Amino acid sequence: MQTHILGYPRIGSKRELKKACEQYWSGKIVLEELLTVGRNICNQNWNIQKEAGIDLIPCNDFSYYDQVLDMSLIVGAIPARYHEVALKRNNSELDLYFAMARGYQKDGLDITAMEMTKWFDTNYHYIVPEFYKNQQFKLTSSKIFNEFAGAKQAGINAKPVIIGLVSYLLLGKEKEEGFDKLDLAQNILPVYVEILSKLQEQGAEWIQFDEPFLSLDITEKAKETYITVYSELRKQFPTLKFIVATYFDGLKDNLSLAASLPVNVLHIDLVRNPEQLEEVINSIPENLSLSLGLVDGRNIWKNDFEKSLAFINKAVEKLGSERVLIAPSCSLLHSPCDLDFETNLNPEIKNWLAFAKQKVKEVVNLKELASGTENQDIINDFEENKKAVSSRKTSSLIHNNIVKQRAEAVTEEDSQRKNSFQIRREEQQKALQLPLFPTTTIGSFPQTAEVRSWRAKFKKGELTAAQYDTLLKEETQRTIRWQEEIGIDVLVHGEFERNDMVEYFGEQLEGFVFTKNGWVQSYGSRCVKPPVIFGDVSRPAPMTVYWSQYAQSQTNQWVKGMLTGPVTILQWSFVRDDQPRSETCKQIALAIRDEVVDLEKAGIRIIQIDEPAIREGLPLRKAEWQNYLKWAVEAFRISASGVDDATQIHTHMCYSEFNDIIKNIADMDADVITIECSRSQMELLNAFADFKYPNEIGPGVYDIHSPRVPSKEEMIELLKKAQDVIPAHQLWVNPDCGLKTRHWEETEKALIAMVAAAKEAAVEYSI
Ligand code: GLN
Ligand code: ZN
Repeated sequence: MQTHILGYPRIGSKRELKKACEQYWSGKIVLEELLTVGRNICNQNWNIQKEAGIDLIPCNDFSYYDQVLDMSLIVGAIPARYHEVALKRNNSELDLYFAMARGYQKDGLDITAMEMTKWFDTNYHYIVPEFYKNQQFKLTSSKIFNEFAGAKQAGINAKPVIIGLVSYLLLGKEKEEGFDKLDLAQNILPVYVEILSKLQEQGAEWIQFDEPFLSLDITEKAKETYITVYSELRKQFPTLKFIVATYFDGLKDNLSLAASLPVNVLHIDLVRNPEQLEEVINSIPENLSLSLGLVDGRNIWKNDFEKSLAFINKAVEKLGSERVLIAPSCSLLHSPCDLDFETNLNPEIKNWLAFAKQKVKEVVNLKELASGTENQDIINDFEENKKAVSSRKTSSLIHNNIVKQRAEAVTEEDSQRKNSFQIRREEQQKALQLPLFPTTTIGSFPQTAEVRSWRAKFKKGELTAAQYDTLLKEETQRTIRWQEEIGIDVLVHGEFERNDMVEYFGEQLEGFVFTKNGWVQSYGSRCVKPPVIFGDVSRPAPMTVYWSQYAQSQTNQWVKGMLTGPVTILQWSFVRDDQPRSETCKQIALAIRDEVVDLEKAGIRIIQIDEPAIREGLPLRKAEWQNYLKWAVEAFRISASGVDDATQIHTHMCYSEFNDIIKNIADMDADVITIECSRSQMELLNAFADFKYPNEIGPGVYDIHSPRVPSKEEMIELLKKAQDVIPAHQLWVNPDCGLKTRHWEETEKALIAMVAAAKEAAVEYSI
């Protein structure tokens, strides 16, 4: 039996890489300094794994930005627009690389970055390869060889990790018509061969090909490509040991394909899809070994050793221990680095957790235990593990019977507003008296350095609670006054008291805990620190009423209450694994519902429940979409349905591509939905129009992601386009997302123009 790791976090346990990259970009350090930081992180990671006793330690899992972009550079998939950068920067490979990732606005050049998108269903974002017809590829970077050599120097014969050829192509985008990216397989294959030959020459024995698409729905053509590519590679390299790694879902209908590939090891994700084990061990051929992905690479919980050992025993019984490898479910890229840094966590909770470094040890312990070790330390670890697992089952920190009973008692009625939208609409019109094309914003106003400094000072104790409160009130009041002055119809309080739209709520809910250093890479140098939902969720006290009420007291116009929805809170947190996600989501929904009801009681008549993450929660396999959408939509409805007909519920989403879930969005039954669509120039609205979306819609009329101030005329144009497909009485006018990241200067200009556009459009409509 052997152990291996699919990939280790590369940001550094104190986010050293983030800091070094940002310093390099701003010219504060030179290239050699950045490279030193990179090499140190690699060495640290290798040592952690070596000391823990991992058999196959990965290399090339490190990256200065993104592993897919690394691949694009290695195979020379460099879009032509970057060639000039290479010239300007003396052919510095890393400068070219960063230009592809981040764009290049220097030296008289203005070159856009490559597109970025989510890595499967994670919160990690990769740089999308660009493909052209008849594209030629060429070995361009030596990063992978340098890393292999670096590991060798550290005394490790590492296992290079590369993105499998088929997955690499499937991750990319065709940038012109008339070809299929899979047609490029024959062109790119020689580069893969070249990479492998060099690695073999350097002494590599193992190669890990990441092929996550084998656990997704794929076309017949992709399946055929898998067969040709791996047969060819096998033919060229009869002695290299190939691992094909699948993760994020089960092999399911691709099992026979995966099992037929001429490779040495197949890795499967038994955290996401434990059910597949039985079928997999019964169908793989005798010359194929199986890597069991048992330790959750996507979450922060301690492994349940007893449970994992049962899986291992089952596999060993059927395959023999020589054909079994133990591993995390996927790369540890998605877990925080090291639990040891969490010195402030409640010890009982800390005892339930494992971050990357701890997970490495778990993998080794599982192998030892499965092999009948007599090592007393490991036997003790096992006892500790059993205790931790059983304490999670019963701890009063986690289990709150009142919450469980309430969730269980939820009925159909709880996710139903009192009356249909048609009736509610009349009530709301009477109560709210809004004009045609009402104007509003999405919630946040600029979080200036000043506002952030108040929060920092308050946290450090340099400002008293009363001082902090006064400053925030002044800022809120100014913002209310200003919105009144420029003539916005539905005001917001500005969200100055919030650090982050999930953290702000998590901090006030029971069942959440926050780490000090639990950073995970989101993209490039950007890291996020997701809250940990460890227990039953409840709301001990109102969370937003104070600020909404204060803002409402400052004006005679309507102030919109602002909440984050249950699906988004779930989606952007580490979620407990001892109950279904749907159950946790329902508990959060009930907490938000209480908040909605309290806001109404406090006189807030318009309440927005943001759900920007609802689409990204979609399962990877289409067959599971309906189940997810059912509970996700229900959770939203539970949160929204406690109020009277006359109270208007808004929701907001900021990812396009609603076409395939438009029916479910309509099922959410929000009275008003505001969506991002200024960048796609209202194309998105077609989905709503074709479907005849019945409720009100605020299609974003300008892009807040850029400092550019749009003109009134542009926005009138967009409003006209919107009216072509949606009846005027259904339309709202608003930016496409919150203004938190903008400066006041451009915000003021843009909103003044937006209000003018709405007024003009209303006049034009009436004549
Ligand atoms: N209300 C939030 C804001 O305005 C919404 C943010 C979002 O959609 N991501 O900041
Ligand atoms: Zn948004």
